[in-house]
Amino acid sequence: MAYDFDLFVIGAGSGGVRAARFAAGFGAKVAVAESRYLGGTCVNVGCVPKKLLVYGAHVADELEQAAGFGWTLEEGHFEWGTLIANKNREIERLNGIYRNLLVNSGVALLQGHARITGANEVEVEGQRYSAANILIATGGWPLVPDIPGKELAITSNEAFYLKELPRRVLVVGGGYIAVEFAGIFQGLGADTTLLYRGDLFLRGFDGSVRTHLKEELERRGLDLQFNADIQRIDKLEDGSLKATLKDGRELIADCVFYATGRRPMLDNLGLENTGVELDERGYIRVDEQYQTTAPSILAIGDVIGRVQLTPVALAEGMAVARRLFKPEQYRPVDYQNIPTAVFSQPPIGTVGLTEEQALAAGHKVQIFESRFRAMKLTLTDIQEKTLMKLVVDADTDKVLGCHMVGPDAGEIIQGLGIALKAGATKQQFDETIGVHPTAAEEFVTMRTVTR
Ligand code: FAD
Ligand code: NDP
Repeated sequence: MAYDFDLFVIGAGSGGVRAARFAAGFGAKVAVAESRYLGGTCVNVGCVPKKLLVYGAHVADELEQAAGFGWTLEEGHFEWGTLIANKNREIERLNGIYRNLLVNSGVALLQGHARITGANEVEVEGQRYSAANILIATGGWPLVPDIPGKELAITSNEAFYLKELPRRVLVVGGGYIAVEFAGIFQGLGADTTLLYRGDLFLRGFDGSVRTHLKEELERRGLDLQFNADIQRIDKLEDGSLKATLKDGRELIADCVFYATGRRPMLDNLGLENTGVELDERGYIRVDEQYQTTAPSILAIGDVIGRVQLTPVALAEGMAVARRLFKPEQYRPVDYQNIPTAVFSQPPIGTVGLTEEQALAAGHKVQIFESRFRAMKLTLTDIQEKTLMKLVVDADTDKVLGCHMVGPDAGEIIQGLGIALKAGATKQQFDETIGVHPTAAEEFVTMRTVTR
């Protein structure tokens, strides 16, 4: 049977655009439907605008350090409206680039919500299209727990478009987004409190990293409250918000920002018309080649709930395009040693196993850990410390994990990701000549086992 398309992609986000472009490049007839914004979460309400706001907040650090280098500055004044307007302009530019990328690769771009109406059929704006393969790349959506007053809270989606910088912010959650936005709000001048329900935030990250970041954030004056969770939110007469915690305490703020995880975006997707099954967490169940339980339907990215990072969605999109249309080039995605950064202030960079994971996996580990004041700060009064840590297998000498908290951690960890992928040993780290004077050279000069 002849179909309208070889591949119909639902969602023009990180994964969908990558799969569509490359599939078209391999000669397939491809359509992409997008209901909201080209480039998806990452470009519009994720990585890109977030990093721009992080840069904005970081300017406060530079201003604080300036005096030590002899600069006398007038007192700074920050305009939230200018930052957001400039950010919006950049995002619009990127939306245009994504449009051109798709159109120039020969992909048919359909604007509107897509709903699957059969194993090989999708409906967009009342028009039905048939396709040999359907790829679900619909991403995720913020999840706010069901508490009284939840409608008074905002999520990352709204934070990027706030009209004003709130004076007092409560950030709820202890993952990537909570820690990053707490740094943004505080760096830009808001009185910021981070509430996390457990003992210590960033569950799953290396223990030294979590403790070090906690100490550094407290040193910067962020109000960190652990074992704290909101029971209800009420609006007061003066327009401010009152958050009542489960332990009975009451906190007043102008903005309550929830970053308590994300759910797969399956709204009105028509999965009931297919044999697509969900896993126990509610994400689309796929096999190792991203095929769902319906043979003609595939899924990638945040909607399958594996690793919710843009470069992973890109790799999965590439794998699907190759598997379907260039099988001789197909390579499975390697989920081991994925480097990642949390753009907190200071940022975290991490790749490989944490000390806790290495021990749990039965490794006999050697830990190399270094805390130092970065050279840039020696002419200032700022006491911030950088943390670097290597987790090494004592039997094989292989470096199992590299972890860092400090300026440029994300930039530094990318290269170490290659070293770990290549299976580097501690001896090879030691034999690598450092770049002097940098903070990064510490990763190749740590000689003394800490434990
Ligand atoms: P998405 O990029 O979410 O794209 C899905 C697209 O599908 C959307 O455009 C949506 O509108 C569309 N869609 C949904 N349903 C339909 C439908 N039925 N019909 C038509 N279109 C539909 N990752 C990093 O690697 N680094 C970071 O620094 C980083 N920062 C982040 C910061 C924030 C605040 C957030 C929320 C996420 C961040 N991420 C980051 C995660 C990253 O954005 C996601 O992992 C990535 O965007 C997932 O790509 P995707 O293709 O699965 O989905
Ligand atoms: P995460 O899953 O990372 O963190 C969710 C946090 O909310 C956890 O601390 C969790 O606590 C807490 N939480 C969950 N449910 C509740 C609840 N009912 N009440 C109170 N607290 C709750 O989600 P995020 O929203 O921060 O980010 C989503 C994903 O997006 C990330 O996992 C990451 O993959 C990606 N991302 C990547 C970034 C980057 O690469 N720099 C930046 C931003 C996002 P607990 O630990 O106790 O479960």
